[in-house]
Amino acid sequence: MIFDLHIRNASQIVTMEGDGLGVIEGGDIIIHDGKISQVCGADKKGCNAEQVLDAAGKVVMPGFIDCHTHLVFGGSRAQEFARRMEGEGYADIAREGGGILSTVKATRHATFEELYDRAAAWLRLMLHWGTTTVEIKSGYGLTLADELKQLSVIRSLAQEVPQTLVPTFLGAHAVPPEMKREEYVKEVINLMLPEVAGKGLAEFVDVFCDSIAFTNAETRRILTKARELGMGIKLHADEIADTGGAKLAAELGAISAEHLVKASEEGLRAMAQAGVVPVLLPATTFFLREEARPNVKLMRELGMPMAVATDFNPGSSTVYALPFAAACGALLDGLTLPEALRGITINAARAIGMHDKVGSIKPGKYADLLLLDADSWEELVYLFNHNSIHTVIKNGEVVCGV
Ligand SMILES: [Zn+2]
Repeated sequence: MIFDLHIRNASQIVTMEGDGLGVIEGGDIIIHDGKISQVCGADKKGCNAEQVLDAAGKVVMPGFIDCHTHLVFGGSRAQEFARRMEGEGYADIAREGGGILSTVKATRHATFEELYDRAAAWLRLMLHWGTTTVEIKSGYGLTLADELKQLSVIRSLAQEVPQTLVPTFLGAHAVPPEMKREEYVKEVINLMLPEVAGKGLAEFVDVFCDSIAFTNAETRRILTKARELGMGIKLHADEIADTGGAKLAAELGAISAEHLVKASEEGLRAMAQAGVVPVLLPATTFFLREEARPNVKLMRELGMPMAVATDFNPGSSTVYALPFAAACGALLDGLTLPEALRGITINAARAIGMHDKVGSIKPGKYADLLLLDADSWEELVYLFNHNSIHTVIKNGEVVCGV
């Protein structure tokens, strides 16, 4: 059999298989038809491949997965950031028309092409930092037409960029200023959800369930409808306050719940029982200078598969590089380095239901691989400000580097 690509001479292959990192010292990877065909000990002789890639002592890892972003948006919140650093509160700025609603205004004004070009540029930067799969939420339109515009941008990008994109409908991100809350909740349920599902524009539906956003009762109504339409569900839960979002995520059978810095012990136990993936967003904690930290100790005790994402968006996290988010996970949330790295690979894959396809180096999975210019895997987090990604391989093809 002639294979497509034979990666030889890696110093370490960080497979992410098993409980830890599953590191193989030295070794080869053989790729066929865009998928990993074999992972074996050093220098497999007699392998006939169309192409041989000499890893020249580099570390090989699975491509990174950013399982929580809001990267299609208009405008900038740089001035707002400056005001916040002068001591103005996020809530005060939001009351004066800043915050999410200022991005909503800019996103509504932006054309499809403007949104597309900017998002494509962010995705290119993310690729250079090793991100091969990206979940992207809507939620800056808040009208049917503008939400569809954002989701259509994601669909078009998915056909053009090297990464796999996973679209999520987050119509329930905020109540638009021109509508009453109940009126808007009904619009999301009766108008937007059927339209988005009918057009096949989103895989998941997310709700910002919190004290400053949607109530548990509203969240339940929206996500129940989403489930009826056959869509996967997610929650932004217990970020600003413990409103019982974690418990609700468990009750509703969500695939994941995100933020969770204020989640109660009871809520986390319910999530563990129901198999809901916790998604930690430590870059947001960093950017907003939040003091609350997720209860990593309990999540660890409960054996929960902690995922880590950037939460990339213009207001609360301008971080798009996953190694930096992983470093925030370690330095701020107290994750071990293996936890931080599993968080941006195999556990991130679980958070978007793709763990049988990507997130680890295993025969049968897509060959989404990174070659790192590093002496050992620890350096990726240790030297978080240094981009050590040398080559990015997506579905068996080199898409960046070499
Ligand atoms: Zn978010």
